[in-house]
Amino acid sequence: MGLSLGIDFGTSGARAIAIDSSKNIVAEVHYPFTNANFQDWQKALFYLLDNLGDSVRSELKSIAINGTSSTVLLCDNWGNPLSEAILYNDGRGIAFLEAIKAIAPPHHPVISATSSLAKLFWWSQQEIFSQAHYFLSQADWLAFLLHGKLGISDYHNALKLGYDLENLCYPHWLENLPMFNLLPEIFTPGTAIDTIKPDLVTRFAIPKDCLIYTGTTDSIAAFLASGANSLGAAVTSLGSTLVLKLLSSQKVDDSNYGIYSHRLGNLWLTGGASNTGGAVLKKFFSNQELRNYSLAIDGQKESNLDYYPLLKAGERFPINDPFLPAKLTPRPDNPREFLHGLLESIARIEALGYQRLQELGANKLQRVYSAGGGAKNSTWRIIRQRHLGVPVLLSKQEQAAYGTALLAQQSVTLLK
Ligand code: ADP
Repeated sequence: MGLSLGIDFGTSGARAIAIDSSKNIVAEVHYPFTNANFQDWQKALFYLLDNLGDSVRSELKSIAINGTSSTVLLCDNWGNPLSEAILYNDGRGIAFLEAIKAIAPPHHPVISATSSLAKLFWWSQQEIFSQAHYFLSQADWLAFLLHGKLGISDYHNALKLGYDLENLCYPHWLENLPMFNLLPEIFTPGTAIDTIKPDLVTRFAIPKDCLIYTGTTDSIAAFLASGANSLGAAVTSLGSTLVLKLLSSQKVDDSNYGIYSHRLGNLWLTGGASNTGGAVLKKFFSNQELRNYSLAIDGQKESNLDYYPLLKAGERFPINDPFLPAKLTPRPDNPREFLHGLLESIARIEALGYQRLQELGANKLQRVYSAGGGAKNSTWRIIRQRHLGVPVLLSKQEQAAYGTALLAQQSVTLLK
C-alpha cells in the first residue's frame, strides 16, 4: 500500500515519521539542533532519510515537510540561499513596520516585526537583493531539495507573507510591490508537486514515483496530529506558554489580542497565545514535584486562590495589557495548595481564552484536546474540564511530523 513520510523542522530539531495506510507509525528518526540554519537543515534532511531504514525507504509513496512559520530564505535562480535564512523569531523587520502599515489592511498579521513580509522588506535594502530570484519559507526550500521545483509554497506558510486566504490570491497591495516577482505560487497544503528527484532515488533507494507534497507550519502540523477535525474542536498546548487553537467556520482576527486565523479547507483554525503556562510552573517546581503534588490534589475541588501566573509583567491574550502584572499571592506555605492555585488559575485563563475567541465569532467550543508538557497531568485535566465545561482529551498524537505525514498521505479530510 506504500508509506507516507512527514518531516518536521521545529525550533529544536528535525524529526521524520513514516506511517502506514492504517496511520500507524512504522519509523521515527530525530535529529536535534539549536540555532540551525540552511546548511544544518540540509544535513538534517539527508540524515533523516538515511536513518529511516532500507525497508521503509523502499516503500515510500509520499513525503511532505513542515517548517517553522516565518523562517525564510532569499535564493538565487538555482535555489542557492544568498545569505543565512532569517529565523522565525528574528525581529530585524521592526524598522519596516511603518512601511508595511502604509500598504497592508489594518491589523493584518504581516504587521509584525517577525512576519515573513517584514523580513523581505529588510532584505530588499541589502546589497545581495539584486541577485535574488526566489523568496521562500523553510518548508518550501526543503521540499525544493526533494523535488527540484522553485517558487512554490502553501497557504499556511504564506499567511504572514500577506497571501489572501479568503480569496486564495495575492492581494493588490502586494502585487504592486517591486519585489512581487520573488514571491512563490501558493497551493493548498498537501498538494502533489512532483516526484522525488532522480539523484535522490539513486542515493536513498526511494521509489521513483514517490510524490513530494506542499507542506505546512509546525504548529498547524501539531494540530493535524491531535485528532481534532470537527467544528468546535480545539487543541490547547500546555508547553512553556499556553496556546489555544479552535476550529471554526468563521474567520476571527484581532491583532489587539494577537488572534489570527489559518485556513483549513473550508474552515478556519483560529487561535491565540497567552504568556502564562508551564514556564511559571517550572520556576517553582521540578517535573517530579509537579507529578507528585498533582497526584495529591483533588481536581474536583476548586482552589480559591486566584492568580495570574506570568514570568514577567505583560499579556496579550486573553487580556490585552502590555503592563498586566503577574499575580502570585497570597502564597500558602503548603506547596501542594500553591500548585493547586496555579493549575486552577491557568485553567481559568484557558477558559477565558476560548470565551474570547467565541465572543469574536468562533464556533461554540465542543471538545478540547491537550498537547505539551502539561497535557499528561490528569489532575489538571479534571480541573480544566470543570472550567471549560466540555470534554478534555489527550491529543491522539503530538508530533508535528505525524500531522505532516497525514498531509502527505492525503488523509486530512478537512483539506479535501
Ligand atoms: P515547550 O513549550 O518548551 O516545548 P513542553 O511542551 O516541553 O514545552 O512543556 C514543558 C512544560 O511542561 C514545562 O514548562 C513544565 O513546567 C510543564 N510540565 C511538565 N510536567 C508537568 C506536569 N506534570 N504538570 C504540569 N506541567 C508540567
